[in-house]
Amino acid sequence: MMNPTLEHELAPNAANHVPLSPLSFLKRAAQVYPQRDAVVYGNRRYTYQQLHQRSRALASALERVGVQPGERVAILAPNIPEMLEAHYGVPGAGAVLVCINIRLEARSIAFILRHCAARVLLCDREFGAVVHQALAMLDTPPLLVGIDDAQAEGTDLAPNLDYESFLAQGDGNRPLSAPHNEWQSIAINYTSGTTGDPKGVVLHHRGAYLNACAGALIFQLGPRSVYLWTLPMFHCNGWSHTWAVTLSGGCHVCLRKVQPEAIHAAIAAHGVTHLSAAPVVMSMLIHAPAGAAPSQAVSVITGGAAPPSAVIAAMEARGFSITHAYGMTESYGPSTLCLWQPGVDELPLEARARFMSRQGVAHPMLEEATVLDSETGQPVPADGATLGELVVRGNTVMKGYLHNPEATRSALAGGWLHTGDLAVLHPDGYVEIKDRAKDIIISGGENISSLEIEEVLYQHPEVLEAAVVARPDSRWGETPHAFVTLCAEAQAGITGEELIRWCRERLAHFKAPRHVSLVALPKTATGKIQKFVLREWARQAAAAASDRPEG
Ligand code: ADP
Repeated sequence: MMNPTLEHELAPNAANHVPLSPLSFLKRAAQVYPQRDAVVYGNRRYTYQQLHQRSRALASALERVGVQPGERVAILAPNIPEMLEAHYGVPGAGAVLVCINIRLEARSIAFILRHCAARVLLCDREFGAVVHQALAMLDTPPLLVGIDDAQAEGTDLAPNLDYESFLAQGDGNRPLSAPHNEWQSIAINYTSGTTGDPKGVVLHHRGAYLNACAGALIFQLGPRSVYLWTLPMFHCNGWSHTWAVTLSGGCHVCLRKVQPEAIHAAIAAHGVTHLSAAPVVMSMLIHAPAGAAPSQAVSVITGGAAPPSAVIAAMEARGFSITHAYGMTESYGPSTLCLWQPGVDELPLEARARFMSRQGVAHPMLEEATVLDSETGQPVPADGATLGELVVRGNTVMKGYLHNPEATRSALAGGWLHTGDLAVLHPDGYVEIKDRAKDIIISGGENISSLEIEEVLYQHPEVLEAAVVARPDSRWGETPHAFVTLCAEAQAGITGEELIRWCRERLAHFKAPRHVSLVALPKTATGKIQKFVLREWARQAAAAASDRPEG
């Protein structure tokens, strides 16, 4: 039994207990690697000493314009050096960082700024038009600080202050303020809000520290690592890699536009060793003409949506080494990953890719990830077949949603973060997602996993992207409707009928799509296919065809 006297006697003190915060990573990197390139962007380069100094100047400048601890500072910018500086300078002023998705329209930007009561908005000049529209909707607009990036297109931002002059007002020697309490908020990230207004996911210093440590560990980041920013930093703070790369003393290579040519060029020019990318970015890379294999080993973490095994296999065949992670904004990015096991390397490529396409096991630092029966709340059997909800719990789960106690209660009910993703648990303890709860197709009373159909479509050599959604059907309730983009070099003459045949040859017939549309797919800023838009298209197509019998 624990001795209460001993616990009382040995209370924590400053020598043995420091609130966890990723801000300490930058201080250490600046001490250990002062001359190491911390950030490379076009012809701009900052050493760790410089990144530290600029971040401290930002913290000081924010303080000088009156930003109080706990207040919110927003940023609207692509993957440029200022975005990294904000990840240290804003929390380093004791404030809370709010990264805004750069593809949002004015109404949503206004909603976020108002909802989090942003005091300052740091904004890249390319987004001037939309930002001025958003600010006009606010009664108390934030102070607007404009970032004048040489690579930005458009100059229609009229800021109150320019970022470099703002930094010049700050003191680059002011230490970054460490939090007094590690539960202190570090960032608020707004979810995409596909149903209703976006929700503000509040994250704390402790979780950011732990998830960054976990990311550095599983990605094997070190001082020789060169990390290419293909994942938007505004998305879950770049899965905490904004902090993880600094922890390791690696180099951040910024990239304004995520385009295959630019990615291949950066890999070659900077000796990139690591990058993270949604599956659609990997598809783009595979099909890009400049797809020569990199001469150095490049590790890629993919996630954000289910990567089809054909895409994993094609990337591995090109010399990239893939790790598959799963997560959500509510879990600071990655919360499960498909870990390597003895024997996996010996599998033939296809079987290996199939193994890796599962979402896997709990991420390091997460306590637990499991699948619960949605009705009974009990764990499902590890039979690879029984469907339930994937739930996770641990220190890398959000504090909750800002000003939304009801949504917080239901997301964290019963001591689990409810992901809303439907999964099975395999006998080896790995989870596999079959669908988002709202994406599963129920046809004639049978569940059909849209991911299972997409997996087969992606095996077709001419398919660039595929997404399957439920289409209302008077006879079956719902049937699968596939939306497909063919590769640019696809032979003319590939038809929807041919793709339906392809699926029927490889799937139970009731699972094969009954309709196929060849279109460009609508995407979110992180490259996720917007299934809610496709569901609407499928609904409209069904309504238009309703005078004809469905079959
Ligand atoms: P949004 O709801 O804005 O897309 P997130 O970026 O937080 O927000 O998305 C989280 C969701 O993305 C998960 O709940 C899951 O449905 C999906 N997702 C993320 N990673 C994967 C993955 N590796 N495999 C399957 N689905 C994934």
